[in-house]
Amino acid sequence: MRLSQMLFVTLREDPAEAELPSHKLLLRGGFIRRLSPGTYTYLPLLWRVLQKISEIVRQEMNAIGGQECLMPQLQPAEIWRESGRWDVYTQAEGIMFALTDRQGREQGLGPTHEEVITLLARDLIRSYRQLPQTLYQIQTKFRDEIRPRFGLMRGREFIMKDAYSFHANEESLRQTYQDMHRAYCRILSRCGLQFRVVDADAGAIGGPTAASQEFMVLASAGEDDILYTPDGSYAANVEKAVSIPPEAAPSPYDSVQILDTPGTETIDKLAEFLKISPTVILKNVLYQALYDNGMRVAVLLSIRADQEVNEVKLSNHLSRLAERYQASKLLTLTLADADIQSSWQGDPIPVGYIAPDLPDRCLGQTQKNLAPKILRLADQTAALMKNFVTGANEPGKHVGGVNWGEHYPLPEVVDVRKAQAGDRSLLNPEQILETTRGIEIGHIFQLGLKFSLPMRATFTDEQGSEHPLWMGCYGIGVSRLAQAAVEQSHDANGIIWPVAIAPYQVVVVVPNISDAQQMEVAERLVRELTAAGIETLWDDRDERAGVKFKDADLIGIPYRVTTGRSLKQGKVELTERATGQAIEIPIEEVVATLKERLEAALAVPD
Ligand code: ATP
Ligand code: MG
Repeated sequence: MRLSQMLFVTLREDPAEAELPSHKLLLRGGFIRRLSPGTYTYLPLLWRVLQKISEIVRQEMNAIGGQECLMPQLQPAEIWRESGRWDVYTQAEGIMFALTDRQGREQGLGPTHEEVITLLARDLIRSYRQLPQTLYQIQTKFRDEIRPRFGLMRGREFIMKDAYSFHANEESLRQTYQDMHRAYCRILSRCGLQFRVVDADAGAIGGPTAASQEFMVLASAGEDDILYTPDGSYAANVEKAVSIPPEAAPSPYDSVQILDTPGTETIDKLAEFLKISPTVILKNVLYQALYDNGMRVAVLLSIRADQEVNEVKLSNHLSRLAERYQASKLLTLTLADADIQSSWQGDPIPVGYIAPDLPDRCLGQTQKNLAPKILRLADQTAALMKNFVTGANEPGKHVGGVNWGEHYPLPEVVDVRKAQAGDRSLLNPEQILETTRGIEIGHIFQLGLKFSLPMRATFTDEQGSEHPLWMGCYGIGVSRLAQAAVEQSHDANGIIWPVAIAPYQVVVVVPNISDAQQMEVAERLVRELTAAGIETLWDDRDERAGVKFKDADLIGIPYRVTTGRSLKQGKVELTERATGQAIEIPIEEVVATLKERLEAALAVPD
């Protein structure tokens, strides 16, 4: 391809819309162009990258028996109502673009395809003889992200590979899940990425059987926090991570005392005022849970004050309690701010001085859609506390030396503490958790019966009896992966594409296009390289040599061949983008040398 004929526009300056190096470089290198927040045109150079990633994904999916298909993006609301996700996706989370068509029918633009594929399985899978099945597609997904940002990292329209598997039993599901795990490792390795597999949150359905893992590309710009042990035996998304909390200090209070603690609304202030460790203080955090039937529930969570609440774990627990409130799902969990507290229309709440027995009078009695009693929960760290300090339900006052059972009934005990760096590992207490950031590129998930039960997707076994299908789902963000590769592999001059996903493998640069010999050699090289199956770009633009070198570095083509001064000796310069190493080689050796180097770089791992 001749660059002089391409729509190739690079930018000198960093565009104002971008923060991350990868986002800046993709814009500057002419890979993407923004249309609106979260939507991008993939320009020809990036499209080649995306095609290469897709092809690697395809090969690895096919290798484990995946069958490629393509499902509609426009999805009728009914099937989302069948699975019970329409309200959550269009209202609570609001992630699904929804519209009403001219016939007045509600539709959504697919953010994911569990409903469509489960319906397909219900229609087409009848017998155990047809199982297992794995289908996948590579397609544009739509999500109305509240904060589209970082270019392709969090788009509102992006390319995903999503796969779904159906099974007669859990054992078969586990097998395919393992195959997927291996396939994902191969995909990311082949794309030249450094990554870590971490345990992920499996949502409210996550019992011990609902395994779920994420494939994280390690990068400081990542939006996910990962905790891991240095020996590599444990790694988890912080949403899911477990650990042993630090030891609590002994309490200085061995009998009950009322403590005058003016101006100590925060834990820091209180600990400093009383000169005690926060591990002696019990903090009581008020939330409001909103369920899908409109029911609001005030939740008072008690936790040891040096610890933070993991709201993902708390939401999962509250979701499991939905039935208690005649609901089927938790829609949202919000800290009870002043507005929420006043909407309860009850007694004023002593913010900063709340005790675990905050009276239910704080909730107005006649309110519709408000549970009359506070739901009280205690984290495990709270349940273990002795002679602790906590609020006295009165502004400016705390109590010390109080105990569960004696002074307050112990509420339902839950595990909703956020694991942190510095905690000991639960699996091996000698290992101390460390933290890093990652970009979630892939997610594999054992869904179990989550969709097949409500959507009645069943099969009959050898004995002729009917069972719901076991199901798994497996996603990879193809467009996000492309940018993550840049985030992980660039330098001050531009992108350094891993060879396997580079838009072109070689760029032939002619420093001076009015030099007939340079042009002639370049043309011959481009022809021979192309004939040898090497993807070659030819910079034949009427530009200064410096501009061409800068652009070649910016767009990150792995090898550059320059027809420069050494032509007189029958040689050209071969420069490797990643190392900057340049050698002069005879013109006749260019094709063979590059072929060898590219083959080595593209070798597929076993
Ligand atoms: P996130 O937590 O980053 O919002 P998710 O957990 O909602 O992602 P999944 O539903 O698991 O994402 O989708 C599968 C994959 O699709 C993700 O692992 C990610 O690589 C990609 N992906 C998800 N949302 C986006 C987005 N807004 N833009 C680009 N890629 C995305
Ligand atoms: Mg995910």
